[in-house]
Amino acid sequence: MKKKKLALHWKIIIGLLLGVIWSMISASAGLSNFTAQWINPFGVIFIRLLKLIAIPLVLFSIITGVASLSDARKLGRMGGRTIGMYLATTAVAVAVGLLLANVINPGKKLTDADRTYNRIKYEVWAKQNQVDIRDGICESCKSENVFLLQKAQGDQGENTEVVKSKIEAAQKFKESGPLQVLVDFVPENIIGAMGNMSQMLQVIFFALLFGLALISLKPEVAKPAIEFCSSANEAFLKMVEMVMLWAPFFIFALTAGVFSQMAGDDLNALIELFMGLGVYMLTVVLGLMVVLFGVYPLILKQILKKKFGYKKFFQDLSPAQFLAFSSSSSAATLPVTLECVTENMKVSRSTADFVLPIGATMNMNGTSLYQAVATVFLAQMHGIDLNASQYVMITLTATLASVGSAAVPSAGLVMLVMVLSAIGLNPAWIAILFPVDRILDMSRTVINVSGDAAVAAAIDHWEQKE
Ligand code: ASP
Repeated sequence: MKKKKLALHWKIIIGLLLGVIWSMISASAGLSNFTAQWINPFGVIFIRLLKLIAIPLVLFSIITGVASLSDARKLGRMGGRTIGMYLATTAVAVAVGLLLANVINPGKKLTDADRTYNRIKYEVWAKQNQVDIRDGICESCKSENVFLLQKAQGDQGENTEVVKSKIEAAQKFKESGPLQVLVDFVPENIIGAMGNMSQMLQVIFFALLFGLALISLKPEVAKPAIEFCSSANEAFLKMVEMVMLWAPFFIFALTAGVFSQMAGDDLNALIELFMGLGVYMLTVVLGLMVVLFGVYPLILKQILKKKFGYKKFFQDLSPAQFLAFSSSSSAATLPVTLECVTENMKVSRSTADFVLPIGATMNMNGTSLYQAVATVFLAQMHGIDLNASQYVMITLTATLASVGSAAVPSAGLVMLVMVLSAIGLNPAWIAILFPVDRILDMSRTVINVSGDAAVAAAIDHWEQKE
């Protein structure tokens, strides 16, 4: 009798759970050093393998995808729809985040005294940095707060190196002119662009241009190049399959490494940290779940009608989702997302090859939702009343910031600096969120990847209808 094999996504879930369990054992038994030296490296190897495959896969898959289109107009149409869907889903995600943050009010769980003190510290910082305070409140002007004011003046805190470097990175992005995004799109050297994961948009640009050039050539001239790219594409997809055979083990190692790094050798300290920021974290996670289990299925149901199955959608996509969770990187997950979307969800190659790589770098619904919640949380805990124009500004900058965020761990936190600065809040407050950022990064990356897949399914449906 043939034994029924356990499906890959179950094996991955088991790997992930074992990773979490191991990290707890390792924290309570003081084995975090052992985990770091003997288990974590396998997780690092896994991410390296995926990154190794991701860039050439993007290159060859887009070239093959574009070359298989009969004319350039189709590309324009698909491009327009893709960008439109990406922007629309991002705006919806921000709206969900803002709504939940204002209903749950995670930043108002602090005592009034703490919030008043935080507020005074904010006013001192704003004055020192000539930042306009927009809600017209002035706690530091009140005579009963004079002692708090004195205390706050001596307690502006030093930014740690990590926070400083994140602020600097965001500052660089902000200082570049409005058209810098466009300039950054165009590589001056394709080999250089391929050497840097955060330059994936440049590789996409080159691949689009190359693919377009191929379809403009005489068929007999283009044929060898198209055949080469298509066969290289197949080889890279095979590599993904080969690596994925080991995914459950690799994901165990990755999760064990990440969680054990968070916990160190003191599990209680981690639990205390999570409790302090618990309501904020819950708000972000709840928002992400609303988008994942509510918004995407709703959109797909509207577009695909009967062809959409709730359970099937999550089952088909689950390997990519678990990988996104354990790697915190949409870019490293891309090879697996491509496989799930084409093999399981049956989205056509030419659509997936075009929509997913662009989505991995530009479409980050989870990141924008997180940025919206984080901004409102920080404002609330500092006693700041945000006005309507600041909310509009959050929506715009969180959308732009998530487009500008590289698809790598913690990129969303860097871009949060931009959102905070845009509405006159102190960017150094990211230090408050930093200790729990990794776990939220893991969660928002799942939404980022799922959003790309959902849009790919919708675009493919329209393309098939044309
Ligand atoms: N890690 C996220 C991603 O790769 C980006 C972020 O929000 O930090 O999608």
